[in-house]
Amino acid sequence: MPDAANSGDSFDVIVVGAGNAALCAALSAQEQGARVVVLERAPEEESGGNSRFTAGAIRVAYRGVDDLRELMPDLTEDEIAQTDFGTYTEDQFFDDMFRVTRNRTDPVLCEILVRRSFETLKWLRGKGVRFQPIWGRQAFKVDGKFKFWGGLTVEAWGGGPGLVQAETEACRKRGIEIRYRSRATRILTDGFRVQGVQVKTPGRLYELRAPAVILAAGGFQGDAEMRTRYLGPGWELAKVRGTRFNTGDGIKMALDIGASPFGNWSGCHAVQWDFNAPEYGDLAVGDAFQKHSYPWSVLVNANGRRFLDEGADFRNYTYAKYGRVVLEQPGNFAWQVFDRKVLHLLRDEYRIKQVTKVRADTLEELAQKLEGVDGKAFLEEIRAYNAAVRTDIPFNPNVKDGRRTEGLAINKSNWANTIEEPPFEAYQVGCGITFTFGGLRIDPETRVLDQDQEPIGGLYACGELVGGIFYFNYPGGSGLINGAVFGKIAGATAVADLRRNA
Ligand SMILES: Cc1cc2nc3c(=O)[nH]c(=O)nc-3n(C[C@H](O)[C@H](O)[C@H](O)COP(=O)(O)OP(=O)(O)OC[C@H]3O[C@@H](n4cnc5c(N)ncnc54)[C@H](O)[C@@H]3O)c2cc1C
Repeated sequence: MPDAANSGDSFDVIVVGAGNAALCAALSAQEQGARVVVLERAPEEESGGNSRFTAGAIRVAYRGVDDLRELMPDLTEDEIAQTDFGTYTEDQFFDDMFRVTRNRTDPVLCEILVRRSFETLKWLRGKGVRFQPIWGRQAFKVDGKFKFWGGLTVEAWGGGPGLVQAETEACRKRGIEIRYRSRATRILTDGFRVQGVQVKTPGRLYELRAPAVILAAGGFQGDAEMRTRYLGPGWELAKVRGTRFNTGDGIKMALDIGASPFGNWSGCHAVQWDFNAPEYGDLAVGDAFQKHSYPWSVLVNANGRRFLDEGADFRNYTYAKYGRVVLEQPGNFAWQVFDRKVLHLLRDEYRIKQVTKVRADTLEELAQKLEGVDGKAFLEEIRAYNAAVRTDIPFNPNVKDGRRTEGLAINKSNWANTIEEPPFEAYQVGCGITFTFGGLRIDPETRVLDQDQEPIGGLYACGELVGGIFYFNYPGGSGLINGAVFGKIAGATAVADLRRNA
C-alpha cells in the first residue's frame, strides 16, 4: 500500500521528469510564485533525459546578428566580422515546419513554437543558461568567412549536458526540489481534477499531493513493446539514441485517466546510427554514434544498391526520416561510402573510437570489406553512379549546389561527387530512434485535453510527450525549443489556473 502521507511536504505544482521541458516548466511555475517539486525517475548520474544526450542545438527565429547578440552577448566584434549568420525569420521557421511535416503540424501549436522561440531563449538566458553559435557543425568556411546554413545557428554552452546542468542549477538556486530515483507511476484524481501522483522510489511507494501536475516525461521510444505496437514491426530492432527512462509513462498515465491521444503515433525521429551501437544511449559518447555526413556519401544497402537521395536537402531536413529508411533495408543496415575528396568534411563523430568503419585503397578491396554487401552489385552501382554525376557543376557544401546525378533510378540531387579517389572510407549504420511523435493532446496553454476535448483539471504537458507538432520528419534543433517554449507556458498556465480556481 502506498503511504498516503505527503511526507509533510506541501507543493502547488509537481513536475514529472527532469529534462529540458520539465526544468523550464519548473522554473516558470516557480517564477509565478508556486512551490514546485520535480520528480525524476533516473538516478542523478543518469538524469536529464534525452535533453542531456543532445549537442544542445536549438532552432530559433532571428532577424539578424542583432537578435543573436541579445542571446549571445559574448559574441566578439571579430567573430561577427568573420561570420555570415544570415537570418532565420519566423516565416522561414514556419515554412520548414510545414514542409517537413507535409502540412500536418498543428497550426496553433506550431505558431506558438515559432513565435515564442526567440523570447523563450531570452528568458532562459535570464535564468543563467548561456548560448553560443554552432561553429563546428552548422557553418563551413568559404573565402575566409564562416557561413551558417540550414536555419540552425545557436547551441547551449556545454551542449546538452551543459544545458541540463545550467537549468538544474537555476532550479536549485530558486529552491526547487528535485527528487531523483522518483518515478511517477499513477496520476491521482477525484474523477474531475488531478490531485497529485503516486511515486515509486527504491523501496517506497507514496502519494504526493498537489493541485497541479505537469507531465514532461518524454516519449515511448525506450519501450520496445510500445515501439513495435505503434511504429510497426521491426522497430524493436532499432537502437535507442538517448535515455533508457523514456518508456511512455507520462503518456500512459494520462491516457489511463481519459486523456486524448494526438498526433503521429506511428511516426518518430530516427537517424543513421552506428550499426553496433549499444541498445540505449551512452552519456560518455552522447550523440556521436550518429553519422550525419551522409549528404557527401553514397549510401548502399546489403544488395549493393543505393536506396535514397543522399542529397535531397540539407542534412537538417532529411536526417530525422532516414533512420526509418535504413531500418527498412535488408538486414536493417547500410554503408555510407566516401572517397578522399570529401573526407575532410566528415563531422567529429566519424573519428570516435566506437565506430564501425572500413578503409581501402581500391574500390575492389572496399567491396570485399563491406560486411554483408553484395560486392559485385556494389561495384556496378558505383560505376553507374560515377558516370551519372554532373561534374561540370561546382561542388559547394554551403548551399544546395545542384551538383547532381542524372538518369539513375534514384538520383542524388545535390553534392554528388564521384567515388573514385583513394583512400575510400565506409561506415556501417543502422537505425537509431530519437523520440516518438505521437502523444497527448493539449490546448494552446498546455492543458491536457480529454476525449471530449475538455481540459483535465490540473493536468498539463510539454515536450516530447505532446502530440501534433511533428509528423513524418522534423527540422533539426526543434526538440529543445519545443520543450522550452511549452515548458515555460505550462509552468505559467498551471499557476494561473491555480489562482483562478482558488
Ligand atoms: C542523441 C540525441 C541528440 C539530440 N540532439 C538534439 C539537438 O541537438 N537539438 C534538439 O533540439 N534536440 C535534440 N534531440 C532531441 C531532444 O533531446 C528532445 O526532443 C528533447 O530533449 C526532449 O525534451 P523533454 O524534456 O521532452 O524530454 P527528456 O529530456 O527526455 O526528459 C524526460 C524526462 O522524464 C523522465 N521520466 C520518464 N518517465 C518518468 C516517470 N515516470 N517519472 C519521473 N520521471 C520520468 C526521464 O528520466 C527524463 O528525465 C536529441 C536527442 C537525442 C537522443
